[in-house]
Parts: sequence; C-alpha cells; structure tokens
Amino acid sequence: MRLNIGIDGPVGAGKSSVADAVAARLSILHLDTGAMYRALGLTALRRGIDVQDEEAIVALCRDLGVSVRHEADGQHTFVRGEDVTGLIRTPEVSMAASTVSRYAQVRKEMVRIQQQLASETDMVLDGRDICMTVLPNATAKIFLTASPEERARRRFLEMQAKGMSDTYEQVLEELKKRDDQDMNRPVEPLRQAPDAVLVDSTHLGFDEVVDEILRIVEEKSHG
Ligand code: C5P
Repeated sequence: MRLNIGIDGPVGAGKSSVADAVAARLSILHLDTGAMYRALGLTALRRGIDVQDEEAIVALCRDLGVSVRHEADGQHTFVRGEDVTGLIRTPEVSMAASTVSRYAQVRKEMVRIQQQLASETDMVLDGRDICMTVLPNATAKIFLTASPEERARRRFLEMQAKGMSDTYEQVLEELKKRDDQDMNRPVEPLRQAPDAVLVDSTHLGFDEVVDEILRIVEEKSHG
C-alpha cells in the first residue's frame, strides 16, 4: 500500500521543514502544497491581476501550468516551465497565496494535481487540507501547531537570517491575519481532522517533533 502522510497546521508551525526531515528519514518525497498556491499568488501579482477577483484568478489557475520537480536540494516549483522556487517566499506572495486559496475552483484544481502526485509515489504532504480533503485515506495524519507567539518568533528569526527587515510585531500581525483568513474561509478552512494526531511543538525541539511524527507513522502503519 502507498505510504502517504498528511501534515496540516497553521502558518509557521514548521510543517515544511518537519515534513522534509520526516520524508528524508523515510527515504520518500515531500510535497509542499503551499508552494503551488504561492506560485498562483505570485503569477497574479506579476500579471497585475487583482487577487480579490475570483473569476480572473480561477481563469489564471486553469491556465497556470503549475508543476513540481524533486531535485537533490528539495522541491522546485514551476509555472509554465519557469522555476519560481526562489520567488515565492516573500510576505506579499504569502498573503496573495492565502487569498487565492479561498476560491473553490482553485482548490479543486490544486487538490486534483496533489492527489495525482500522491497516487504515483510514497510521499509526505504538508498543507492545510491534506488530512480532510487531499488524502482522506492517508497512512498517518498529523496536525502540527504551536502558539502564535512561538510561530511568529521562529518565522521572524528565519526572515532575519534571510536579511529581511520586518519586525517581530509585523511578523506576528501578518501571521494572525493569515491564520484568520485560513481558518475562516468558507471552503476547506484549516482545521484538525477528527482522526489526525495533534502535535504541539511550542515546547518541543525540531528533532523531538520529527521523532514524534515518525513514532506516529510507525504506529499507524503497523496498526
Ligand atoms: O504553507 P504555506 O504558508 O506555504 O501556504 C501558503 C498559503 O496557501 C496558506 O496561507 C494557505 O492559505 C494556502 N494553502 C492552502 N492549502 C494548502 C496549502 C496552502 O490553502 N494545502
């Protein structure tokens, strides 16, 4: 049977780096689904398309040609063959991704691609709707979270290391805004699946979180 692991959670819970490490330990791939919504947000911003204009965004999404490729240094995300991996992590793109991901037709298209990829190979997928929608039959389902302040602190340190000038207060405010938008949208809002295991990383180190998830995967795989 396919080994598919779903990790959902709010902004800055560390899903992506944790999913990377879990996938590496299991020698399987990691699909960062947020990167696909980010690629759409980026393309809208570049083309001057209003992210609030649902019809225009849905049309853009259908025409996006988004794809991912796994290389030695991890996932690369492409829009019509252009590698946009290095362009999708700015605060502007984060907010645009959160806005375009509210639209039902956008989600439908992204979920279709993600399910296709997950059916082809063993994978860890991280996102917001993985356990409820993308992989309802996942081997293991995890809801990874931490307090907003701790998530903002981690994101702030990450951004500082990249030379970005945002203050901690700005990062916390942006994170709460995005949490609110992700949790209160009408279509597939972020929430913990009833059969997902909660991992609260507020007081856990990175390796402890990875070990805990591997333990859950082991338990679920062998009943
Ligand atoms: O995970 P990441 O922060 O890269 O995701 C960017 C945005 O894409 C999120 O704020 C969320 O609104 C959206 N997203 C989603 N469903 C997913 C992954 C991301 O709605 N599976």
